[in-house]
Amino acid sequence: MKKTYQGSCYCGKVRFEADIDVNVGRRRCNCWICARQRAWETLVKPEDFRLLAGESELGDYQFGAGNGHHLFCRNCGAASFGRGVVDATGVEYVSIAAGCFDNANPVLTQGLRAHARLEAAR
Ligand SMILES: [Zn+2]
Repeated sequence: MKKTYQGSCYCGKVRFEADIDVNVGRRRCNCWICARQRAWETLVKPEDFRLLAGESELGDYQFGAGNGHHLFCRNCGAASFGRGVVDATGVEYVSIAAGCFDNANPVLTQGLRAHARLEAAR
């Protein structure tokens, strides 16, 4: 069952909330950017994600095929979430950094599985 969780960047200019089923799982993305940030992510569907503040604060870095938007706060630099499209399926997703939840269920930040199923974004 989904529950709403809030998150933010370090300085708080970027704030969001998302409806998440904590049983769906998380992933450790191994793209070049995420590997350098050791990012653990929870994937949600775009319709389950709401950016509450900070759209104008977001920087966007893309590389390769440009399927992923590696967003970051221009003020504090924290990469609290990103957006993208799964190459093979065209499914859109929002990936939320595990460390950027404000009121996280411990499941969201501990015991993270190596690879969440991409079905989370469907
Ligand atoms: Zn910030």
